[in-house]
Amino acid sequence: MDLNSKLTVLEKIYNIYNDFSVTMDIACKKHCCLCCTRSVTMTTIEGYRVAEGILAKGKGDLFGKIKESDKQAGFRPKITINEMAELCMEEGDFPEEENTSAGECPLLADKECSVYQYRPFGCRCFISTINCSENGSATVDDFVLTVNNIFLQVIEHVDAGGFSGNLTDVLLFLENAENRENLLSSKMINPSSVLIKNHHLKILMIPPEYRKEAQPILDALNKLKY
Ligand code: SF4
Ligand code: SF4
Repeated sequence: MDLNSKLTVLEKIYNIYNDFSVTMDIACKKHCCLCCTRSVTMTTIEGYRVAEGILAKGKGDLFGKIKESDKQAGFRPKITINEMAELCMEEGDFPEEENTSAGECPLLADKECSVYQYRPFGCRCFISTINCSENGSATVDDFVLTVNNIFLQVIEHVDAGGFSGNLTDVLLFLENAENRENLLSSKMINPSSVLIKNHHLKILMIPPEYRKEAQPILDALNKLKY
């Protein structure tokens, strides 16, 4: 699948998640942005979509903000979710992830996301039933966490051959036109030590008690023939 086909599939995946999330009773509201931190992660196809969106809207100065924020600590994943699913299947050990403190996302301006229509799935799936300011963190139903994992696994699969990483690392990598061109022509080589290679989806992490409930979502995703 070429990058443009992948981007079309990605858009459809986001729409399926949107159809799911609008049925939820959530506390998330406009200008509520405690969850907009530097710990968001994403895949390279999602990053490509954000980077192209930034450039198309003439907001190239945002890359300067991203660069500036890169000096702060933020979560850098060591393994992807599909790799984690494989390790679970093989009963292997997970590398220890560092719990780094995170500042504000550099794409946040006046309590609004500067790239809202292009934001990655990691932002879209951050929904809470109780406002995070009330108890300091998001309150997320276990079934929603299961659904979120399904989408993360499918998105990584669609971008197999690409990479994942912290939002700022992915965007700084894709600020470079040559890197975007390489992604477009599927000629990406290992881009940097801070990005990790995406894996194909081998097994979905769905607890038995949620399999039936998750089936309509799986059916909708399967129709995309990713
Ligand atoms: S996840 Fe929490 S901080 Fe983010 S919009 Fe929802 S309630 Fe607000
Ligand atoms: S990209 Fe947008 S929605 Fe996501 S964390 Fe940053 S400001 Fe928030």
